[in-house]
Amino acid sequence: MDFQLTDEQTMIRDAVRQFAEAEVAPMAAEIDREHRTPLEIIPRLAEQGLLGMFVPAEYGGAALDQLSYIIAVEELARVCATTSVMVEAHNSLAVWPILAYGTDAQKEALLPAMAAGEAMGAFGLTEPGAGTDVAAMTSTARPVDDGYILNGQKVFITGGGYAKTFVVFAKTTSEGPAHRQISAFIVDRDTAGFSVGEGERKMGIRASSTPPLMFSDVYLPKDALLGREGQGFEIAMKTLDGGRIGIAAQGLGIAQGAFEASVDYANQRVQFGRPIGSLQAIQWILADMSTDIEAGRLLTDRAAWLEGNGEPHAKAAAQAKLFCGQLASRVAGQAIQVHGGNGYTEAYPVERAYRDAKITEIYEGTNEVQRLVIAKQVLTERRVGA
Ligand SMILES: Cc1cc2nc3c(=O)[nH]c(=O)nc-3n(C[C@H](O)[C@H](O)[C@H](O)COP(=O)(O)OP(=O)(O)OC[C@H]3O[C@@H](n4cnc5c(N)ncnc54)[C@H](O)[C@@H]3O)c2cc1C
Repeated sequence: MDFQLTDEQTMIRDAVRQFAEAEVAPMAAEIDREHRTPLEIIPRLAEQGLLGMFVPAEYGGAALDQLSYIIAVEELARVCATTSVMVEAHNSLAVWPILAYGTDAQKEALLPAMAAGEAMGAFGLTEPGAGTDVAAMTSTARPVDDGYILNGQKVFITGGGYAKTFVVFAKTTSEGPAHRQISAFIVDRDTAGFSVGEGERKMGIRASSTPPLMFSDVYLPKDALLGREGQGFEIAMKTLDGGRIGIAAQGLGIAQGAFEASVDYANQRVQFGRPIGSLQAIQWILADMSTDIEAGRLLTDRAAWLEGNGEPHAKAAAQAKLFCGQLASRVAGQAIQVHGGNGYTEAYPVERAYRDAKITEIYEGTNEVQRLVIAKQVLTERRVGA
């Protein structure tokens, strides 16, 4: 067992950390306060190779391994959760399914622009009446002679405000089991009948765009279909299996940032004539925070390793996301405790971390859904671990 990062992974971590500190951290508090999506960062993310991380070099991507990707997401989340989810949703939820299920023609047509940041991607699965219960979706893509007619609505779509390439799920039939009725489509933003609503004003990741999508008699040619008819549910679930590792990394990054701020504060803040870091009560909080983060990182790295090596990873991804989502909320709360009253104000970054952390327990499957995925497997496996 090797716990060392490779030279390439170390280089990527250092490069993304430097970029995040120099160009992302300075804007993080302001874009949060203003609920403003930082579109200006997209070309810079592309230049850093962060928008085509799994994309093969022939399509203009960085062709990196899964672990490098989650290291990058963690480093971005450490300073700005919004920027990390912009990168995560694009890579995991839009680029990945096109790479995994697209035809050569679809990959050639879409991936170079996506890797270059000229066409950001988004994933349209959730509907007002179909969140956890994906198969309850009511969007339809009615087959016609030369394609499909798409009607319906999606909600909470990360990147919806600026994305160009949308992976959208809709039912192509009403026959058979509900989950087999779903197909996946690639929909361009400029398609007639497709409109994007106002973004939600959110508790955290406030600068991330999360609008509804509306489809009214949208004509899609046959080659807009991703995978086969009826394969949409499988595509969505497999996409989320990988995406969840990215959200685990996001939770870790938020926690890591809050931890570092807490260590700095504990060393600086003086009460009773000495830094509060010399108090055992504060030391124990810091010890618990660091232990949580290291445990979460092991789960996340392992899930990424399994995925990168083509091994089954649905349970490992769910475990990493469940654990890291919860630890992000826990650690961010502890960070506020270490900061006392200051932590409760916008003057310190832990207030933002506390608000940002919660979403990692909700999107790409709630904690409860992760438990369902894990439980389904452990009931048959019985033995925990290798
Ligand atoms: C900021 C943000 C960004 C998002 N980005 C995207 C995106 O890019 N694309 C996209 O398609 N969606 C996106 N979503 C949607 C997100 O994935 C859903 O909100 C999430 O899956 C939960 O669905 P829901 O909100 O409808 O909750 P519900 O499904 O209504 O769940 C409500 C509660 O009931 C629990 N519950 C439901 N069913 C069960 C069950 N069977 N067993 C146990 N508990 C259950 C849930 O765990 C939760 O606690 C985003 C959401 C947010 C808030």
